[in-house]
Amino acid sequence: MSKSHDLFEAAQIHIPGGVNSPVRAFKGVGGDPVFFKAAKGAYLTDADDRQYIDYVASWGPAILGHAHPEVVEVVQKQATMGLSFGAPTEIETTMADLVCQLIPSMEMVRMVSSGTEATMTAIRLARGYTGRDKIVKFEGCYHGHSDSLLVKAGSGALTLGVPSSPGVPEGLAKETITLTHNDSAEVRQVFSEIGDQIACIIVEPVAGNMNCIPPEEGFLETLREVCDQSGAVLIFDEVMCGFRVGLDGAQGRYGITPDLTTFGKVIGGGMPVGAFGGKREIMNHIAPLGPVYQAGTLSGNPLAMAAGLKTLQLIQEPGFYENLDQKAAALMQGFQAAADEAGIPFTTNQVGGMFGYFFNEEKHIRRFAQVAKGDMERFKKFYHGMLEEGVYLAPSAFEAGFVSSQHSDEDIAATIEAARKVMKTL
Ligand code: PMP
Repeated sequence: MSKSHDLFEAAQIHIPGGVNSPVRAFKGVGGDPVFFKAAKGAYLTDADDRQYIDYVASWGPAILGHAHPEVVEVVQKQATMGLSFGAPTEIETTMADLVCQLIPSMEMVRMVSSGTEATMTAIRLARGYTGRDKIVKFEGCYHGHSDSLLVKAGSGALTLGVPSSPGVPEGLAKETITLTHNDSAEVRQVFSEIGDQIACIIVEPVAGNMNCIPPEEGFLETLREVCDQSGAVLIFDEVMCGFRVGLDGAQGRYGITPDLTTFGKVIGGGMPVGAFGGKREIMNHIAPLGPVYQAGTLSGNPLAMAAGLKTLQLIQEPGFYENLDQKAAALMQGFQAAADEAGIPFTTNQVGGMFGYFFNEEKHIRRFAQVAKGDMERFKKFYHGMLEEGVYLAPSAFEAGFVSSQHSDEDIAATIEAARKVMKTL
């Protein structure tokens, strides 16, 4: 038996399900999760000393690969100067200035410690600012696990088959209106009926929690339009796609300006960080400037700021995103060719450094209902086959994959070769 197996057995005694975040438990693919002990560049090393080419990237943050030497160096340096102050530090201002410079829609930004905190607060702020209670989200999008947002949610909630969680008060859940993602007509219909009661729309402008789903043409434009007409706040949840599909995020890529944006993952360079921000007029309502409350003991933590700031500096290198885009595109073309060769119905999506693959008959996957129709048994077989070949992909058909700047052409070629081998066995 593997060491991962023994570690998983031991973990289940005192940790619910043996994991500190549900999707890690491999419920989406079956079998024992792999326990890791080290990561460097594009590679992971498991508890049994096996190496894998990694396409999970800690669920997105590792855009520079794991343990990038320059990121590690600034964290080590900061650690010797204090782990946390609970008081303002200069690096927080440097970080805020840089985020506002890179993302034109951001006039002010507040740092928090997770994506969940960022989206939860953005929703509260939108409600406080508009004086309205209802929010609009889309089925299959995931925005963290705060009560209002765990209604028909994506990611691990989908993988585990509990998109609407018990424990969320009915009174609150009824204020969450869940619409069909990428369906502009439905959005228009709802806003024509009750637009004046809606505080905000929250959306993943490139969805990554029902696999990778780009916006249908005109969808983000429609969201902007109905928000402008009704006075609702448009929130882009760029926790996953921010600094991932381009330096100025999905909003830059598609040319739509949200009122508020949330970030996480890449912005923390591997440390626990989230952020929310946007229009000054709205951010003026957050405490201590205004009455909408939000706080955090470790918010703006200096180690996290050091890792995040260094990461945001390094991703500005010319050609960084072109390189990421090319690698992800090559990987998906290779997967497609491998599937075609084996005669397996298959298709892919890819936006910048984010990708998704589907064991579906249909080719243009833009709806959650299409993702749900994929051949899950084939997905599981492919997943375990790739794992055997030393390739670590997201252990769920409802998650996007990621490449980092450290994946070499050889890594991509080796991964495609593994896919060719595994596809033939499906
Ligand atoms: N929003 C999106 C788009 C996400 O992908 C995630 C996490 N996968 C979150 C919010 C929640 O972030 P966290 O897990 O850091 O709370």
